[in-house]
Amino acid sequence: MAYDFDLYVIGAGSGGVRSARFAAGFGAKVAVAESRYLGGTCVNVGCVPKKLLVYGAHFAEDFEQSAGFGWSLGEADFDWATLIANKDREINRLNGIYRNLLLNSGVTLHEGHARLIDPHQVEVNGQRYTARHILIATGGWPQIPDIPGREHAISSNEAFFLKELPKRILVVGGGYIAVEFAGIFHGLGADTKLLYRGELFLRGFDGAVRKHLQEELTKRGLDLQFNADIERIEKQADGSLKVTLKDGRELATDCVFYATGRRPMLDNLGLENTGVKLDKRGFIEVDEQYQSAEPSILAIGDVIGRVQLTPVALAEGMAVARRLFKPEQYRPVDYNMIPTAVFSLPNIGTVGLTEEQAREAGHKVQIFESRFRPMKLTLTECQERTLMKLVVDADTDKVLGCHMVGPDAGEIVQGLAIALKAGATKRDFDETIGVHPTAAEEFVTMRTPVAG
Ligand code: FAD
Ligand code: NDP
Repeated sequence: MAYDFDLYVIGAGSGGVRSARFAAGFGAKVAVAESRYLGGTCVNVGCVPKKLLVYGAHFAEDFEQSAGFGWSLGEADFDWATLIANKDREINRLNGIYRNLLLNSGVTLHEGHARLIDPHQVEVNGQRYTARHILIATGGWPQIPDIPGREHAISSNEAFFLKELPKRILVVGGGYIAVEFAGIFHGLGADTKLLYRGELFLRGFDGAVRKHLQEELTKRGLDLQFNADIERIEKQADGSLKVTLKDGRELATDCVFYATGRRPMLDNLGLENTGVKLDKRGFIEVDEQYQSAEPSILAIGDVIGRVQLTPVALAEGMAVARRLFKPEQYRPVDYNMIPTAVFSLPNIGTVGLTEEQAREAGHKVQIFESRFRPMKLTLTECQERTLMKLVVDADTDKVLGCHMVGPDAGEIVQGLAIALKAGATKRDFDETIGVHPTAAEEFVTMRTPVAG
């Protein structure tokens, strides 16, 4: 049968665009449908605008610290509307770049919601298109628990477009988004509380990192409330919100921001017209090569719920394009040693196993740790401390994990990830000459284990 397209991609986010562009580059006839915004979550309501807001929030401490270096700036004043307008302009520019990337690669763009009609057919804006392969790259959507008053809460989607900076805000959750946004709002001057239902936030990160960040955020005056969960939210006559916690406490705030995970975006996708199956958590089930239970349909990125990070969606998109249209170049995605950063203030950067994971996996470990005051702060009143930690296999000397809390941790850990992927040993770290004076050199000068 002759199909309209070799590949039809649903979703022009990180994974979909990458896959479409590369498939077209390999000579395939490709179309992409996008219902909302080119570039997807990362460009529009994710990584990019988030990082811009983190930069914005960081200025508060830059201004404060500059006094130690002789600067006097007078009273600093922050205007939320300016930051949001400038952010929107930049995102618009990026949307245009994504459009050109697709069109210049020869991809056909359909702007509208795509719905599967059968295993080889998609409907967009009332038109039907057939394709040999269909790739679902529809991403995720914020998930807010079903509590009374949930309609008064916002998610990250709305946080990027608030008309005003709330005077008081409650951020709910203990994952990436909650920690990053609590830092943004606190840095920009909102009276911010972070509420997390467990003992300590950032479950799954190294224990020392979680504790260190807790201490640093508390030093900065961020109000961290652990073992706290909301029972209901009520709007008051003056527009403020009354929040009742499960332990009976009542809190008054102007904004409740839920960052409690993301569900796969499958709304009105027409999966019921195909044999695609979902896993126990509701994400699309795929095999090692991203093929769903329906042979002609593949899925990648957040919608398969493996690792919800942009570079992972990009790698999966590339793998699919190669497997279908350039099999001689196909390499499976390696999910080991994925580096990641939490853009809290200060940042977390991490790659490889945490101490807890290494011990659980049966490694005999040596732990190296360094805590110090960053040089930049020595002329200031700021008491922030940086943490660096190496988890080493005592038998093989291999470095299993690198963890950092401190300025530019994300930038530093990217380079370390290459070393770990190449199988670097602690001896390789020791024999590497440092770059002086930097914080990063501390990673190659830790000599004595703090724990075995
Ligand atoms: P998406 O980028 O979500 O793209 C899916 C696209 O499909 C969307 O554009 C959507 O409109 C479209 N779509 C959905 N259904 C249909 C349909 N039926 N028809 C047509 N189009 C449809 N990751 C990082 O690595 N670093 C970060 O710093 C980072 N920060 C983040 C901050 C926030 C606030 C959030 C929410 C996420 C962040 N992420 C970050 C995660 C990252 O954004 C995602 O992992 C990544 O965008 C996933 O890419 P994707 O291609 O799977 O989906
Ligand atoms: P996460 O899965 O990271 O965290 C969700 C948090 O919400 C957890 O602390 C979880 O608690 C808590 N939670 C879940 N359900 C409830 C509930 N019903 N009531 C109260 N608390 C609840 O999700 P995020 O929304 O923060 O981010 C989604 C994903 O996006 C991330 O996992 C990450 O992959 C990606 N992302 C990446 C970023 C980066 O690379 N810098 C930045 C932002 C997002 P518990 O731990 O107890 O389950």
